[in-house]
Amino acid sequence: MLGFANRGLKKFLSSTVTSSTFQSSRTSLFRQSNGLRAFGSSLSRFYSSESQDLGERESDQFDVVIVGAGPSGLSAAIRLKQLAQQANTDLRVCVVEKGAEVGSHILSGAVIQPTALNELIPDWKEKGAPLNTPVTDDKFYVLTENHSIRLPTPRFMHNEGNYIISLGNFIKWMGQQAEELGVEIYPGFAASEVLYDEKGNVNGIATSDMGIGKDGKPTSHFTRGMELRAKCTLFAEGCRGSLTKQLMKKFDLNKNCEPQTYGLGIKELWQIDPSKHKPGLAIHTVGFPLDMKTYGGTFAYHLEDNLMAIGLVIGLDYTNPYLNPYQEFQKFKLHPLLKPMLEGATCLQYGARTINEGGLQSIPDLVVPGGALVGCSAGFVNVPKIKGSHNAMKTGMLAAESVFEELQKDKDASAITIASYPQKVRDSWVWKDLYEVRNYRPAFHWGFIPWFIFGAIEI
Ligand SMILES: Cc1cc2nc3c(=O)[nH]c(=O)nc-3n(C[C@H](O)[C@H](O)[C@H](O)COP(=O)(O)OP(=O)(O)OC[C@H]3O[C@@H](n4cnc5c(N)ncnc54)[C@H](O)[C@@H]3O)c2cc1C
Repeated sequence: MLGFANRGLKKFLSSTVTSSTFQSSRTSLFRQSNGLRAFGSSLSRFYSSESQDLGERESDQFDVVIVGAGPSGLSAAIRLKQLAQQANTDLRVCVVEKGAEVGSHILSGAVIQPTALNELIPDWKEKGAPLNTPVTDDKFYVLTENHSIRLPTPRFMHNEGNYIISLGNFIKWMGQQAEELGVEIYPGFAASEVLYDEKGNVNGIATSDMGIGKDGKPTSHFTRGMELRAKCTLFAEGCRGSLTKQLMKKFDLNKNCEPQTYGLGIKELWQIDPSKHKPGLAIHTVGFPLDMKTYGGTFAYHLEDNLMAIGLVIGLDYTNPYLNPYQEFQKFKLHPLLKPMLEGATCLQYGARTINEGGLQSIPDLVVPGGALVGCSAGFVNVPKIKGSHNAMKTGMLAAESVFEELQKDKDASAITIASYPQKVRDSWVWKDLYEVRNYRPAFHWGFIPWFIFGAIEI
């Protein structure tokens, strides 16, 4: 196995962030609206057309490169290192993360089903994993404009054994576990290009060039991106990852599945009045503020430290062109169910992200020569549960196991293809998790009431 000293790479990568101004402007660019993103991508297209003049990129070689330090990417990295330790061998595993810190691009406040975590790090409690608030009360409501009708919580929304957590803190902890095992994690670096070898195998990624001025020309802070080559590259970018989209197109990975569909999730973290805080309470609602033709629902989770995460998920197939998801979320906050909880409260964080809603029918081909998709890059969200972290973690672990098997078979291979990974996923509880709920989201095409009845009876 490769055992290069990583100091050179660390030095190189840290030297690229000496300009804090640039880094913060770059980080904030990720948070901007779609319009600005479109501007950013056209700038990079303009820029990359000139980049041949900028000299060779430095390159480093790994056994495995993982794009994205979310639940799936870090689980894959940890599992790889665990397997290497068990086999008394070494593997060089690198994770690149575009957020300025591990966990900084993860939306806080989530209910996690710890199934995969129990398998990956069985002694997570002793190791201080920040799962401090078990769900103690599940409430499900149908909302009208002024009223809330409490109904029995549907089976798939039951949260016994689950925890309300800050997913960002959990991911930071996962990052520490990975680093303790020897995974090399580089936050602050976006993978911007998939690299291929001469046979067409995926062969790693390149990080973006940095220090580009408004005019598209290199500034004094300019640093060329770096090539991170690997025998296998795992794409753990989350929903609608940019490199994943390139792979989907190039290898036609959607040819055997339905097109992916998406929702938009808006989430806010509030510090609320301690007298109103009920740690362990998980609330889900359907109905108001959305109309009968618009798929979606809301949630409110009471975490530790008087924190409450609230959010709205809305299917992006809504037909009303005037619908404004954020305005709908505001209406939810003013509803009599929620308004009293928010009185005197302070909003600490907010964010929005897309979420896969296609479910089992939209799982693409998972493997390309030299690489694979894991977690929400492929779309393993259980839609009615509004949970994807457990499946993201498990698919990362399964991909890691396939990678390790292949690496053991041929230690000199320059690229490996993990053909056993899709079957491992099919044989796992992830498949069962998605199979059970496969018709829940499609049933909404019948309209709210038939969908609601179907959900109550079938799922
Ligand atoms: C509003 C909302 C609420 C949710 N609530 C829950 C919940 O309560 N429970 C639950 O289990 N799940 C929930 N989910 C789903 C859950 O967040 C995802 O299923 C899970 O985070 C997927 O993990 P992942 O590792 O595949 O991707 P992500 O968590 O999206 O992580 C991907 C990481 O890769 C990085 N990245 C992406 N592209 C690049 C690149 N090119 N270069 C470098 N880095 C890159 C990103 O910055 C990010 O850190 C929710 C989702 C949303 C949107």
